[in-house]
Amino acid sequence: MIDIRDLKKTFGQVQALKGLTMSVPRGEVVCLIGPSGSGKSTLLRCVNHLEQPSFGEVRVDGAPVGFVEAGGRKRAMNGRELAALRARIGMVFQHFYLWPHLSVIENIIAGPISVLGQSKEEAVAEAHRLLDKVGLAAKAGAYPDHLSGGQRQRVAIARAMAMRPKVMLFDEPTSALDPELVGEVLHAMKQIAAEGITMMVATHEMGFARRVAQKVVFMADGRDVEAADPQTLFDTPKSERLRHFLGQIL
Ligand code: ATP
Ligand code: MG
Repeated sequence: MIDIRDLKKTFGQVQALKGLTMSVPRGEVVCLIGPSGSGKSTLLRCVNHLEQPSFGEVRVDGAPVGFVEAGGRKRAMNGRELAALRARIGMVFQHFYLWPHLSVIENIIAGPISVLGQSKEEAVAEAHRLLDKVGLAAKAGAYPDHLSGGQRQRVAIARAMAMRPKVMLFDEPTSALDPELVGEVLHAMKQIAAEGITMMVATHEMGFARRVAQKVVFMADGRDVEAADPQTLFDTPKSERLRHFLGQIL
């Protein structure tokens, strides 16, 4: 579903990604772990073209991200094409960006109505289903200001899911939260994963990676140093770097 081939990204002198190849099969959850500055956010941002790769290619569902292929030629996507692409690649960030002047349900249905052309009834029905899924059925009419950080982040997840994305990207969605709120967001993500959506998750939550991911990728210094199923990766790390990293955090 997500295919990344020899992806490189440089910012001036900084090589944030140094040639990364990986694929995420449809319906699987891949967690990205690794020290600060290892390139996790840059990788996720390349997947929905918030960053343009310096080299290499990202494909989602076979189609190149950021480019249109026609008649053997390739051109950069225009703004409208990029917006349509991002609508299909949901992203949830560390900080949640909800519209403060809209209620929870209005936040969720705005995109599906304006971008996907859903009827209001259809969008509202789907929003209620998703709110139920993330444990917020009772908060449809609330305003973001009146929600906890964990609740807001769960609304952000429901809002991204309402766009019927092919894939969901999460960039440390719990790292700005108070510790007691982390569990409810991870639980909501687990519920979403159970719907069979393809997910890439940069996270420091090793428990989540262990329980929910099919594959964990350890990144360091712009490279995918080691990748395996969670049990293998956490229990029998091969590289000294990963052993060191796990030793520091566990
Ligand atoms: P963290 O765990 O702290 O979120 P990360 O693994 O997400 O780290 P990135 O944010 O992808 O790491 O950063 C990778 C490298 O690229 C770092 O050296 C960072 O300073 C650099 N970098 C990222 N974005 C930019 C930018 N817009 N301009 C310049 N350098 C950048
Ligand atoms: Mg990051």
